[in-house]
Amino acid sequence: MKIVFKIGLLTLLALPCNAQQKVDAEPTKPEETEIWQPKPKVVTVNPETGIPSDAIILFDGTNFDEWISAVDSTKVQWDLNEDGSMTVKNKAGDIQTKRNFGNVQLHIEWRSSPENTGTNQSKSNSGIFLQNRYEVQVLDNNDNDTYVNGQVGSIYKQSIPLAKASSKTGDWNTYDIIYHQPEFDSEGNKTKSGNITVIHNGVLIQDYYEIKGTTEYIGWPKNRSHGQAPLKLQDHGDNSKVSYRNIWLREL
Ligand code: MG
Repeated sequence: MKIVFKIGLLTLLALPCNAQQKVDAEPTKPEETEIWQPKPKVVTVNPETGIPSDAIILFDGTNFDEWISAVDSTKVQWDLNEDGSMTVKNKAGDIQTKRNFGNVQLHIEWRSSPENTGTNQSKSNSGIFLQNRYEVQVLDNNDNDTYVNGQVGSIYKQSIPLAKASSKTGDWNTYDIIYHQPEFDSEGNKTKSGNITVIHNGVLIQDYYEIKGTTEYIGWPKNRSHGQAPLKLQDHGDNSKVSYRNIWLREL
């Protein structure tokens, strides 16, 4: 009798499960798996510039309106060139955007200098710091070896790029970067890592890399809590002569 009672109880308990199975039943019509709302926003791309209609243009070659010195928040001292690019001014310091950003899709173009005769980390070294902290390395590694977690396209001292896709020295490179910022709780503990995807000249070189923390020259990555922050470009201080142009981003 006891056994019969137990089986009866188990059957009763299983009933909600059967009901759930009905909800999850295989759709029988195509319409049952179609979603019509909400509609994605419409973004158009300028056929001449390649810039999406919802992008924030950070540098179009005409001025430094979106930028300040990262050293003292004063006017940018880097060189504005006639060809619509800017060039790092040696020892003028890093520059950063006036605005703060969170998750972004960033497009930026850069060029190493044929005049730069440095070696290792001193050949056209610059860098793109997401949220002022996480560096995607800019470096001329054509005929110039360095440690691979610090070479062109690395997440500096964290992630070796999947490929070296550099243009010839002196030719323009493109970086298309997708970045998601880390998340922190109210006590400042990291609850979710940020991540970076980088496409260099059309080649995937960082594939949704989970950032370990700040990209330090000396020491291990740090994870202090932060919110939105500027985009920063590096003056490495060794006469890099790196140039940038056509910088825009989309907030995600
Ligand atoms: Mg650098």
